[in-house]
Amino acid sequence: MKFSWRTALLWTLPLLVVGFFLWQSSVGSPSPADTGRNTASTSMTYGRFLDYLDAGRVTSVDFYENGKTAIVEAVDPQIDNKVQRWRVDLPGNAPELVERLRTSDIALDSHRPRNDGAIIGILGNLLFPVLLIGGLFFLFRRSNGGAGGPGQAMNFGKSKARFMMEANTGVMFDDVAGIEEAKEELQEVVTFLKKPERFTAIGARIPKGVLLVGPPGTGKTLLAKAIAGEAGTPFFSISGSEFVEMFVGVGASRVRDLFKKAKENAPCIIFIDEIDAVGRSRGAGIGGGNDEREQTLNQLLTEMDGFEGNTGVIVIAATNRADVLDSALLRPGRFDRQVSVDPPDIKGRREVLEVHARDKKVADDISLDAIARRTPGFTGADLANLLNEAAILTARRRKEAVTMAEIDDAIDRVVAGMEGTPLTDGKSKRLIAYHEIGHAIIGTLIKGHDPVQKVTLIPRGQAQGLTWFTPSEDAMLISRAQLKARIAGALGGRAAEEVIFGDAEITTGAGNDLQQVTSMARQMVTKFGMSDLGQLALEQEQGEVFLGGGFSRSQYSEDVAARIDTAVHDIVAKCYENACNIIRENRVVIDRLVDLLIEKETIGGDEFREIVGEYTVVPDKERFVPQL
Ligand code: ADP
Ligand code: ZN
Repeated sequence: MKFSWRTALLWTLPLLVVGFFLWQSSVGSPSPADTGRNTASTSMTYGRFLDYLDAGRVTSVDFYENGKTAIVEAVDPQIDNKVQRWRVDLPGNAPELVERLRTSDIALDSHRPRNDGAIIGILGNLLFPVLLIGGLFFLFRRSNGGAGGPGQAMNFGKSKARFMMEANTGVMFDDVAGIEEAKEELQEVVTFLKKPERFTAIGARIPKGVLLVGPPGTGKTLLAKAIAGEAGTPFFSISGSEFVEMFVGVGASRVRDLFKKAKENAPCIIFIDEIDAVGRSRGAGIGGGNDEREQTLNQLLTEMDGFEGNTGVIVIAATNRADVLDSALLRPGRFDRQVSVDPPDIKGRREVLEVHARDKKVADDISLDAIARRTPGFTGADLANLLNEAAILTARRRKEAVTMAEIDDAIDRVVAGMEGTPLTDGKSKRLIAYHEIGHAIIGTLIKGHDPVQKVTLIPRGQAQGLTWFTPSEDAMLISRAQLKARIAGALGGRAAEEVIFGDAEITTGAGNDLQQVTSMARQMVTKFGMSDLGQLALEQEQGEVFLGGGFSRSQYSEDVAARIDTAVHDIVAKCYENACNIIRENRVVIDRLVDLLIEKETIGGDEFREIVGEYTVVPDKERFVPQL
């Protein structure tokens, strides 16, 4: 920023006020020692003073200014004999006065003229210019050097790029688990960085860009760091959202700076997280494109074209959605390699758990297999977080090592939220107990439903009670019977409320269940062709308009729309009837389970099945048990 008087003034204005204030206060008002003494509000004549003295009203006399004035305390006969203060001008030196005061035993004191007041006054006078000069000096330094602060707005032409550089990430491929394919693909990149001659010697062009595609938390950043770590090269990283700033031109200049720095440090890795923030297809936005973003993207493309394959800079970008990226980014010579990084399967989860259990104290009873089984859909980051939560719980409970109990609690917490305090006994607690046992008994007695893992009345997040099911492993294919079983299970809570308490007493507690039920039933009809409407896909997923995907909606007639509604309705009604029947037929065991649940708050899956088994036949769940 060039120095300008306007900004200088803006900055010195507050300083000026402060300076002025200090200056004022040190000269104008009495110093603290004087306050309250030197400030008599009224004065009286010397003659009157002598009269008072004769009348014996004077209690004390303090001399000031070498005895030229005095502050006199005396009893004032006009105001109720209250002690008052007056200022008295004395006629020169009056030794006989002092003598007289002493003989009449009046407290007297003499105050030397104060010089320190003057000194403070001088300091105050100096303070202002000093502050002013200091302020100006500070301003100059700011405008010449540092980033950030008010100077920055003027600074955007030459951006202080917000990228990070790590000389050594310290991450190795060993630290990345559960995404073997991606790792293998990227192993080669390490060789490109370490031994480029091997490729360039035979005329091969080393790829410049690799695109990692996958949901958040699957380890894309970790992988990129591991490549840099294995190759022993520096790691530059920036997030796509950092490129896009308010000021036009900032993003582009950041890109330029980043590549310049990277080339100086080659061989190295540039990692661009969330590249979709800059890399979306151009001109697709509603209400016109974003100039700044397009400029940034163009700069990025220019930079990638501008350096030769063997400069040793490899750009790794991460995104959740490759489909929205501008096709220019994916052309050869840019991000021409795509590697997908998916959430781990059960085997992968086990491996991730192993990596993160390495640096934690875990008890012998911990089964990583069991944890992996209970956590379908968890990403690497979720699993890392889970183990960390468990470790925190362990420390809080003052245990030596993480046990399965902490792991279970941590999973519940990660999935369903914080634990609350259980309700006290009462009608609503009973109702909730019946609702949950309703879910659990349907889940147990219908074939094709996931088995109950536990039922609990300990609230979590929004839920007052919860029934947990052990999920089937990463189910890719779900049969119609399974879907119906799930719908009936989800309706089990409401069914129990109605059968036991009557339809006037049903509650809002089933709201969430019903949402799931409706969505499952509707998908059976419109997506999976599982109704008498036949094998039709009636609703396709809609592309997001603002991403340039455009509208894509199946057209169907009003008539079909009505038939869809009827079909959905039928499915739900049948499942509900089925659930109600199961509740009625098993009333005895349900009552017993409810009592037990209210007493114990939680019933485990095995115990639950055992008790139900005393009354009726519990169907075997044929389950796909994955090999570990
Ligand atoms: P992304 O970049 O895909 O959003 P990150 O790489 O930032 O995910 O992952 C966040 C953290 O989660 C990592 O630092 C690591 O601790 C953990 N993590 C994620 N995926 C894995 C994995 N595959 N193996 C080991 N740890 C992982
Ligand atoms: Zn429910």
